[in-house]
Amino acid sequence: MTQIIDGNAVAAAIKASVADSLGERELSGRRVGLAVVLVGDDPASAAYVRMKARDCREVGIEPHDYLLPADTSQADLNALIDRLNADDTVQGILVQLPLPAGLDTEQVVARIAPAKDVDGFHPENLGRLLRGLDAPRPCTPAGVMCLLDRAGVQLSGAHAVVVGRSLIVGKPMALLLLERNATVTVCHSRTRDLAEVCRQADVLVAAVGRPKMIGAEHVKPGAVVIDVGINRVTGDDGKSVLVGDVDYDAVAPLATAITPVPGGVGPMTRALLMANTRDAALRQWGLR
Ligand code: NDP
Repeated sequence: MTQIIDGNAVAAAIKASVADSLGERELSGRRVGLAVVLVGDDPASAAYVRMKARDCREVGIEPHDYLLPADTSQADLNALIDRLNADDTVQGILVQLPLPAGLDTEQVVARIAPAKDVDGFHPENLGRLLRGLDAPRPCTPAGVMCLLDRAGVQLSGAHAVVVGRSLIVGKPMALLLLERNATVTVCHSRTRDLAEVCRQADVLVAAVGRPKMIGAEHVKPGAVVIDVGINRVTGDDGKSVLVGDVDYDAVAPLATAITPVPGGVGPMTRALLMANTRDAALRQWGLR
């Protein structure tokens, strides 16, 4: 029987534990604040920002939304980040990516105070991840690690293959798996014979952004398959549907465990953002 890894259930448990820990007496009534900055009116980004504000309220974090016009200058965005870095009511800062053309993402990410970087994308925090030091871990790969743990997957000595090498998913994913003593292979668009490499995986993580690209020919029977992909496609009935990077129907019968889309990794990313914000506040207050 294939285990369907229920990201909604694990994410709910993580959010409940964040809510519990924020209600503890040692915080003496202090409120944690998360600033979410959205530049422009991209509908998908705007929807993510609304969901993050809802998550914040659910766990007892104060959301501070900053909705800026698409023609915001680099100087104005930098000035806002400087203000938020100095704002004692804000313990976490997230700038929704991608930014409109003309704004320098690297400059923005590096300007956020590392202590308030709840996405874990600041160069200092990525360096700390590489060094194995305490720091916010990027939310999506950290969420995948929680799912693997909750599903009871043995990582030490396992061969993990990560398809995708982006800074927000693939690369940190590889480091987190390595930290847990998996033998890690990272694949990308230049990988020769992808299916052959993927078939060696005990744990296969797909983070590509190509609908249903990973098929049965990529999966060793008995593997654990984690689908990070979120792709909006038009279904047979003409309606828009979300599908992953994995061809679920073809792969699920082969896998011992698999994440669905939706309801797998997606809710975990949001839950880990709440946990990272809590942890950032505890570090800033000397409680962690
Ligand atoms: P990127 O576009 O930044 O990276 C995609 C990666 O896939 C690249 O490393 C690219 O290789 C590789 N790739 C592309 N085509 C192929 C191919 N044919 N064979 C092998 N590798 C290939 O995407 P992201 O990492 O940002 O996102 C990946 C997916 O995960 C998307 O569907 C995205 O929507 C989803 N996502 C989901 C999240 C969640 O919360 N569940 C959060 C973040 C992302 P190369 O480097 O050589 O170009």
